[in-house]
Amino acid sequence: MTAKAQVTISDNRETGLSRRGFVKGALAAAATGLLASCSPAAREAFFQRHFRELTQDDKERILDRLEAEYGRKYGGEFTVDAAPAAEGVQFAYALDLSRCVGCRRCVHACVKENNQSRDPEMHWITVLQMDKEKGIDLSHATAYYNPKQVPEEGHFYVPVACQQCRRPQCVTVCPVGATWQEPDGIVVIDYNWCIGCRLCMAACPYGARHFNWAEPNIPDDEVNRDTHYLGNRPRYKGVVEKCTFCIQRTRNGRYPACVEACPVGARKFGNILDKDSEIRYVIENKRVFILKEEINTQPKFYYFYGV
Ligand code: SF4
Ligand code: SF4
Repeated sequence: MTAKAQVTISDNRETGLSRRGFVKGALAAAATGLLASCSPAAREAFFQRHFRELTQDDKERILDRLEAEYGRKYGGEFTVDAAPAAEGVQFAYALDLSRCVGCRRCVHACVKENNQSRDPEMHWITVLQMDKEKGIDLSHATAYYNPKQVPEEGHFYVPVACQQCRRPQCVTVCPVGATWQEPDGIVVIDYNWCIGCRLCMAACPYGARHFNWAEPNIPDDEVNRDTHYLGNRPRYKGVVEKCTFCIQRTRNGRYPACVEACPVGARKFGNILDKDSEIRYVIENKRVFILKEEINTQPKFYYFYGV
């Protein structure tokens, strides 16, 4: 694929006007004609400043606009929250590989909670099946296992999602600053700022980012209407998305959906700055390890064997 072909741009927002599409069109049509043909909402969406530069008033106006946009598209009442990171919080995750049975309930809970497209199908969590004899070996893992029953004899399972790296290469390469690390450590994406160039996908060593090649498709009666601007609000064709530690839940004191869904308690989540937290206990008392330690991305996603 040529570099030119790789750089495709999202253009299917309700406004029907992408940032790059607008610039091209504006050059051709001297901007004024285009602007005149846009609705006030479309103009406001296009000229929206970077999320981190918005005032509280700006945010409220944008969230109202999005709630109305999603309500028109899916029906019902949407909440688009922008709860900020709390002081003294650094989220981290740990996964007990001795418990995971590879059932993929976490995958499906994540799809539902985070409004991932059903068709085409999108999964933020990939559960890898590995051979017990080979140990942790990503080059011999498969995500396409389908036995009658799990766990399958001779195998174990390693669920992988965004590792919320302390040194996130995805952030470093983004040419427009559409993805960044929040003070609580969550790496987020602004879907209204992403230009769909997919450089972050190429840079991510964990295959944690996913691109919307088509308009995401979620049945109206399955949409989760409790959303966060930087998390599970519905996305657009042509933008990248990934796990955000369920920012819409965890910034409101709840566990990520995958933690609640896991039937064997393999998943642990919490604030590592809280010395009484379960996550802190796991990190201090279990022999934890991280994936691809040698590349120094410093994930906040740990694996361990509890027994
Ligand atoms: S796992 Fe990939 S997407 Fe997640 S923070 Fe690290 S580099 Fe970025
Ligand atoms: S729900 Fe729990 S046991 Fe099932 S695949 Fe996910 S982590 Fe493993």
